[in-house]
Amino acid sequence: MRVAVFGTKGYDRQFLTEANTAFGHRLTFLEPRLDASTARLAEGHQAVCVFVNDRLDAAVLEALAELGVRLVALRCAGYNNVDLRTADRLGLAVVRVPAYSPEAVAEFTIGLLLALDRRIPRAWARVRENNFALDGLIGRNLAGRTAGVIGTGRIGALVARTLLLGFGCRVLASDVVEDPELVAMGVLYVPREELLAESDIITLHCPLTPDTHHLVDAVALERAQEGVQIVNTSRGALIDTTALIAGLKSHKVGGVALDVYEQEADLFFENLSDEIVQDDVFQRLLTFPNVLVTGHQAFLTEEALTAIATTTLQSIADAEAGRELVNRVTAAVVVGR
Ligand code: NAD
Repeated sequence: MRVAVFGTKGYDRQFLTEANTAFGHRLTFLEPRLDASTARLAEGHQAVCVFVNDRLDAAVLEALAELGVRLVALRCAGYNNVDLRTADRLGLAVVRVPAYSPEAVAEFTIGLLLALDRRIPRAWARVRENNFALDGLIGRNLAGRTAGVIGTGRIGALVARTLLLGFGCRVLASDVVEDPELVAMGVLYVPREELLAESDIITLHCPLTPDTHHLVDAVALERAQEGVQIVNTSRGALIDTTALIAGLKSHKVGGVALDVYEQEADLFFENLSDEIVQDDVFQRLLTFPNVLVTGHQAFLTEEALTAIATTTLQSIADAEAGRELVNRVTAAVVVGR
């Protein structure tokens, strides 16, 4: 199938090209992200391959359908950037990669938590300047602390298990479905409000939906423990950033580690080091000594990129052959979970 790959980076090209030797699709690697102004680049292709910050709203999907595109292949797990109702109405199939490597994201989450709590980036910056003073680098043991995991699917379950069995945390969880294996291990499912009120550490692993949008907001932070640490490797809009900044300023929030940010589409995945960033909220966030931000890289392991490429190209091959699309998402049904 002819596939227009939007928002291509070097690593996309490398891993998709390697995996494509087994499929033989005709891949056109395009640097621009997909949005209303770039949709026409899909002309002559039956499929588009996109990532988290490409914009697949009604106008873009209509433009794609008019150009003869039949398949949208997301090379990621989340699909909150796709207007699925419109895709369904237009007969555009949407596939994703539901589980390319939950370990990649779970391990990065734990890494962020440790780096935040033990001030590792700050320590490294000091050592590089031959400053070996330890003031301001005091952390806390994870053992014995209460960690709240919101969303215990593939990634959240791994994080919960690691915090419980690896670090000796007390682990609370909140999800719309309970994982019996986690319960058997000793994870305690509680209502979200209780989790927010009792946790020293809150880590977010649920999808972005109307129910989870801004689940960490001013009200939630009011309920939270003094000095709560928050980690988000899921989706930026789970957190109301303005409320988070207020919480940091008042010391209610003791530390934040983010791999995702509400308005990341304007920033992430690009080198903006020579530009004046216009997002004042984001810039304010970066000024806190107890905030650590990475640019949506939790997924970025060789294993994950290989799995993403293979699953994406397999879905495209299935669509071409008229086979069942096991990783399809529609407005009504999410397969592959
Ligand atoms: P998953 O579908 O396996 O798990 C999501 C869990 O959230 C499920 O158990 C689901 O029941 C639960 N959930 C749904 N609604 C909820 C609610 N209202 N409250 C609490 N829990 C709720 O997904 P996953 O593979 O574990 O991925 C989790 C999230 O991580 C994804 O939504 C994706 O956005 C994000 N992600 C980020 C990166 C990254 O690089 N930073 C990479 C992959 C995935």
